[in-house]
Amino acid sequence: LLQLYQPLNFFGFIYAEVRQALIDMENLFDLLQEKQDIVDSPDAAVLALTQGEVRFDSVSFGYDARRPILKNVSFTIPAGNTVAVVGASGAGKSTLSRLLFRFYEVNGGSVSIDGQDIRQLTQASLRQAIGIVPQDTVLFNDTLRYNIGYGKTGSSNEEIERAAKLAHIHEFIVGLPDGYETRVGERGLKLSGGEKQRVAIARTILKNPAILVFDEATSALDTQTEREIQAHLREVSRDHTTLVIAHRLSTVVDADEIIVLEAGEIVERGHHEELLQSNGRYAAMWQNQYSEES
Ligand code: ADP
Ligand code: MG
Repeated sequence: LLQLYQPLNFFGFIYAEVRQALIDMENLFDLLQEKQDIVDSPDAAVLALTQGEVRFDSVSFGYDARRPILKNVSFTIPAGNTVAVVGASGAGKSTLSRLLFRFYEVNGGSVSIDGQDIRQLTQASLRQAIGIVPQDTVLFNDTLRYNIGYGKTGSSNEEIERAAKLAHIHEFIVGLPDGYETRVGERGLKLSGGEKQRVAIARTILKNPAILVFDEATSALDTQTEREIQAHLREVSRDHTTLVIAHRLSTVVDADEIIVLEAGEIVERGHHEELLQSNGRYAAMWQNQYSEES
């Protein structure tokens, strides 16, 4: 089976679909009407990855210029650190990951990696350095092996299975009549949200990028699976610069910095303990979730 690696921006239409769908499915239709494709600048450089520090500097952004979504957002994820972003639905959390991947251009400020503004970089080198586990994964109409192996060109079966084991999807796959050759996607086996997410995690483990982005869709996972996967994600993200968009606060407790985003603005930031003590929005969210779960 010959697998050609196809960069995401290879196909016009599919690209437009995939760039949002990879992140999540919300507003897919709005997006398809909007065709502002990002092109490499003529003198675009290849990202010189040294540490993997990510920096958002006074970033402003709106999908529509008349409706700002992010307002003056600044934060740095030092190499190897984890920053968690929490906040209500619609606050702009997933937008941060889209901007980091440069699916869209910022309107103000800049996003940089190791001091290099991502607008000056080739998209291929940028996307090579980042792995996103999106909120809602869209799988290719191909086999499970292909869907996981896509994370790394020319990966061996052993590598694919090792990644699947770490993502807790190997057992499920070998239980299928066609195993790794099972076709999935629109025209194949329909996987549950949690199963798709685990395929995406396996793909990302295989890619082993310097920078990881998890847009948690914990609602798709049962508590037990979620716990297991989180343990692995912690393992995987240990030496990586990580941005976690968290829905369940239990996942942010250990983050080096927690950012509370509200209507596109950072309204609080700090460690878990600090934020609990300051008794603001984060503390209220924590209280809320705790009482819901107990
Ligand atoms: P969160 O992840 O915090 O729930 P998002 O970053 O996905 O929020 O979205 C922030 C805001 O941007 C929302 O109001 C959403 O409706 C809007 N939005 C998201 N994607 C698009 C898009 N492709 N076109 C226009 N508006 C969008
Ligand atoms: Mg989101």
